[in-house]
Amino acid sequence: MSEAGKRIIFHELLTPEEALNKIFSTVKIEPLGTEVVSIEESYGRVLAKDVYSRIDVPPFDRATMDGFAVRAEDTFGADELNPIKLRVVGNVETGAEELPQVNSGEAVEIATGAPMPPGANAVVMVEYTKRSGDELVIYRSVTPGENVMSAGSDVMMGELILRRCTVIREREVGLLAAVGIDKVEVFRRPRVAVISTGNELVSPGKELGRGKIYDINTYTIAHAVRSMGAEPVIMGIVRDDINEMRSAVDRALSMGDLVLLSGGTSAGLADLTYRVLDEIGPPGIIIHGLKVKPGKPTVVAVSRDGKLVIGLPGYPSSALMIFNIIVKPILAKMLCTGVDEVRIKARLAIRADGAKGRRALYPVSLVDTGHGVVAYPLPAESGAISTLAFADGYIAIPETVEYLDSGDEVEVALFTHQYMPANLYIIGSHDLGLDVLIPMLPGFVRARVINVGSMGGLYAVKRGEADVAGLHLVDEETGQYNIPYMIKYNVNNAVLIRGYFREQGLIVPRGNPKNIRGIEDLLRGDVRIVNRNKGAGTRFLLDLKLKEIAAKMGVKFEELVRKVNGYYYEVKTHTAVAAAVAQGKADAGVGIRAAAAMYGLDFIPLGWESYDFAIPIDRLEKDSVKAFLNMLKSDEFRNALSKLPGYRVSDDIGTIIWKGQ
Ligand code: AMP
Ligand code: MG
Repeated sequence: MSEAGKRIIFHELLTPEEALNKIFSTVKIEPLGTEVVSIEESYGRVLAKDVYSRIDVPPFDRATMDGFAVRAEDTFGADELNPIKLRVVGNVETGAEELPQVNSGEAVEIATGAPMPPGANAVVMVEYTKRSGDELVIYRSVTPGENVMSAGSDVMMGELILRRCTVIREREVGLLAAVGIDKVEVFRRPRVAVISTGNELVSPGKELGRGKIYDINTYTIAHAVRSMGAEPVIMGIVRDDINEMRSAVDRALSMGDLVLLSGGTSAGLADLTYRVLDEIGPPGIIIHGLKVKPGKPTVVAVSRDGKLVIGLPGYPSSALMIFNIIVKPILAKMLCTGVDEVRIKARLAIRADGAKGRRALYPVSLVDTGHGVVAYPLPAESGAISTLAFADGYIAIPETVEYLDSGDEVEVALFTHQYMPANLYIIGSHDLGLDVLIPMLPGFVRARVINVGSMGGLYAVKRGEADVAGLHLVDEETGQYNIPYMIKYNVNNAVLIRGYFREQGLIVPRGNPKNIRGIEDLLRGDVRIVNRNKGAGTRFLLDLKLKEIAAKMGVKFEELVRKVNGYYYEVKTHTAVAAAVAQGKADAGVGIRAAAAMYGLDFIPLGWESYDFAIPIDRLEKDSVKAFLNMLKSDEFRNALSKLPGYRVSDDIGTIIWKGQ
C-alpha cells in the first residue's frame, strides 16, 4: 500500500449501513447460480425457482373420520330419538382402488383417509352408529361435505406453493413431498474461505505453548457461515507474516466466493493486513473501519475480479458481532434469503453507556420477569467468548446517544430463532455449590445463571428480575450475614432462605512460600494480592477484616488499603482468584476453600460464612423455584455438596430465615 493509502486508515469510519451501501455499490452481490438437489438433501437450501403444484392435494375426496359414507340427505332428521336405518353395501379401506356405489338408503363403511365412494357426500362418525350385520342405525344427521376433505382443498393443481428464495426446512419439504416433487432447483451455496491470523494461535486439540491461545474464530465464523446456509472453506491459521498472509489470501480468493479473515487489524500489526488486502485490488481496500464498538478495526477489500475480503476484528465476540451486522446481509444477498433477524422489545436492567460517536453493540442476556423481559448488557469488548455464548441477542446504542438508563426500552436482535426463555433466573454471587445443584434440577427447569456479585443479586431480587439470588454479605457492625442487608436495602418483597456455609480464607501457593498466616501479612509489601470485584461478598469480607486492623492500629481504612499491594487487582470469581495465585500473578487472595482445592493450592482459613438465597415472595409459588428449594433440601444435594471441600450444611437448609413485610 502506498503512503497515501496508509494515512487514511481510520480517518473515514462508516456506520454499518454506510458500509453495506458502499459494498453493494462497489461489487455486484447476487446468487451464484443454481443446482438441482433431491428433497432429502434440501435442508437449509434456498429455492431458485417458484414451485407450482402439478396435482390436487388431496388428489381425491377423502374421509377424515372412521365411519360410514352416506348420502347426507338420507340422514336428515336423525337424532337419538329418531334414528334412521341404512343398509351397509360395502367397505372402503385407505388406498382402495375399487369403490362401491352408494345409492339412496345405503351406506359404505369407510376408514380415515380412504377415498369417498361415488354417490356418497358425507361421513357419519362411527360413534353415532350401531351396526348389526348389514343393518346400520344412525343417531345423528350429517350435512353434505361433513367429515370429507374434498379434492384440491389443501393444494390446488397449478397453485404456487413455494416462492423463489424460500429456505427449505421441515415444513417446506412437507409441501414439496405432498405434491410429489422429489427434486428442486436451489441456489448454489456460497463458499466462504475462513482465515485466522496471529502468531499466538494454536488449533484446539494441540498442546498450548507459552503465550499461546486457542484459535476460536475459525470455528465460530465457520459455524456462523453454516447457519446462514453457506459453506465454509477452512484455510487455517496464518502467521503475522506478510508472505504467509499474502499467499493465504490468494489461495482463499481462488477457493472462496467470499473471504473472511480475522485478527491482525488492531494497531501494531494492522499495516500488514492493510497492505495485503490493498494489494488484491484495484480497488483494494474500500472500507477502513466501522463506527461501531466493538468492531472499529473492520476492513473491507475488493479483489481485481470483484471478490470481497472482509477483515474482522480479532476478538472472537467482536468478530461474531461484526459477522452479524456486516457479513450476514452479504450472505443473505448471495443466498437470496434476506436477513430474518428476530427482534423483541425489552427493558434495560442496568445502565449501558454509548460509545461517543460510535454505535455501541452489547450482547445481552434476557430475563423474563413474568411482567416483561429485561435485558442485561454484557461487556463484549473484553474479548470474553463466554459472554457471547450465554447471550440471547444484542442491542445497539445509537452513535448520538450518551447512555441508556436502566428501565429504558431497547430492541434486542436475537441470535437465535429458537429463543427459549429460561424459567429460573439465578442472579448474584458466583458459587461452586450452585454449579453442583443446577444440573440436579428436574428437566423442566431451564436455569440461567448470571454472576453479578452479591449486591447485584440483591438489587435484581428487589427489582423482581431474579428468581433466586445467592448472597454472602457480611455486616460490618455485627458480623452477621445477609439479613442486615435485606433490611438496610429494604428488600421487603423477598424472603431469605438458609443456604449453606462456606469456608473463606486466604488462597496461597502450595507450600505457602511467603509464609502468610493471616490478613496482617497482606500489609507486608512483599505480598501482592488478587482482590474481588466491588459488590462481591468476598470483597466485603476482606474489607471488614482490614477495617478491624485499621481500627486496632488507629489508622484510616483508606490509608491502610494503600499498603495492600494488589488491592485494585480485581477478578470476578472465586476460581479466578485461585487461578491468579496458581499462575503466580498474585501471592494471595481471599476465596473459598473449594476454589483453592480445585487448583491444588494451600488455604489459610479465615472463618465460615453464610451463603443464603434471597427469593421474591411472589416467586415462591413458581414451579421452577419450588423445584430449586426441594432440591436444596434434598439428601441427594447434601451428599453431593459434602464432597466439596469447605462446604457445610445445617439442618435448616432451605427454610425461611427472614421475611420482608
Ligand atoms: P488482533 O487484531 O490480531 O490484534 O487481535 C485482537 C485480539 O484478538 C488479540 O488478543 C488476539 O489474540 C485475539 N484473537 C485474534 N484472532 C483470534 C482467534 N482466531 N481466536 C481467538 N482469539 C483471537
Ligand atoms: Mg493478531
